[in-house]
Amino acid sequence: MRRFKFKWTLPRFIVQLLSLLAVNALAFTLVYPYLNLKSIPFSLPILASVNSPYSAIYGSLDLIQLELSQPEFPWIAIGFVFLIGAVIGRALCGWVCPMGFIQDIITTLKGKLDSVSPRTDKASKNFKYLVLFFTVLISGTLGLALYLGVGSDYKDALGILASGPFIAISPEGTLFGTIPTLLTLARGSLSSFLLRPPTIQEVWAQLSRTPPLLALRLFVLLVFFGAAWEVPRFWCRYVCPTGALMAIFQRYSFAGIKRDPVKCMKCPHCEVRCPMQISILDLPWEKFNDPECILCMECVDACPHGSLSLKFP
Ligand code: SF4
Ligand code: SF4
Repeated sequence: MRRFKFKWTLPRFIVQLLSLLAVNALAFTLVYPYLNLKSIPFSLPILASVNSPYSAIYGSLDLIQLELSQPEFPWIAIGFVFLIGAVIGRALCGWVCPMGFIQDIITTLKGKLDSVSPRTDKASKNFKYLVLFFTVLISGTLGLALYLGVGSDYKDALGILASGPFIAISPEGTLFGTIPTLLTLARGSLSSFLLRPPTIQEVWAQLSRTPPLLALRLFVLLVFFGAAWEVPRFWCRYVCPTGALMAIFQRYSFAGIKRDPVKCMKCPHCEVRCPMQISILDLPWEKFNDPECILCMECVDACPHGSLSLKFP
C-alpha cells in the first residue's frame, strides 16, 4: 500500500488567495459600502502599496520610505522586518505577497518552468540589491536632511520620489491602485464611448497626453507581466527591493529546508521544480537557507523519495 504524502501546493495556493483578498480587503467596500473597513497600522515585508486606496495592510518597505520622508524613524516597520526575517526569512514571498502569487499564476497558466542560464541568473540577482540600496539611500538621506532641518530643497528636487522612490513606480501600486482608480474615473464616459467609439487619431492624441509618470508606471507593470511569463518569479529574483531585504534575513532565519542524504538520489526533480532556480544539490544537506529561497515547498513536493523537509529551527 502506498503511503500518503502530504503536499504543500494546495494549502499554499489557499493561503496565497486569501492573502490577496485580505491585503486588498478595502476593495470589498466598493461592493458592500456599509462595511466599515480601515487599513490596519501594521506592515508586512511584501508588496502592498501605500498608494492603493484598497490596501488593508501596507508593505514594510513602503512604510519605511514614507515615514522617512515625514521625517519619522520607522521603528515599528523595521521591527516587524527583523522579527519576521529572523523567524521565517523570506517565506512571506512564497506564501503571502500578492505579486508573488500573480507570478505563480502566470507560470501555472504557461504550464512550464523556463530557466535562465546559471551565469545570467547569478549576475542578475544582484540587481535587486542595487534597487534596495538606492531606495534606502534616497529615503534615508532625505529623512536625515529633513530631521536636521536642511532638507526642504532636497525634497522639492526629488518631487514625487520624495515620498518613496520605489513607491512611485512599484507595480502593485499601479495594479491595485492606479488602474482601479482610472477605471472608476472612466466609468462615467463608458456610455459615450459605446455610443461613439473614438477614432485612432483621438486614441493616439489621448495617449500622447498621458503624464510621463503614469506612462512609466504602466510600462513597469507591463514589464512585470511580460517578464513573469518568460521567467518564473522574474520580479522576485531580479528586481524587488523587498525580496532583496528579506533575502538578507533568509540566510540566518530559523526556517530552512533539510535534505536527507541517505534518501536523496540526486535525480534532480527538486531543482527542476524550484521557481527560484536554486541549485539545491549544491547546498548543505543539514539545512539550507539560500537567500533566494522563498520556502514555497515546491521542491519538497517534487521529491519522489521524500528526502526534503522543512527544518525549523
Ligand atoms: S520578492 Fe517582492 S514581489 Fe516577490 S514575493 Fe517577495 S515581496 Fe513579493
Ligand atoms: S529551494 Fe525549495 S522551498 Fe526554496 S524556493 Fe526552491 S522550491 Fe521553493
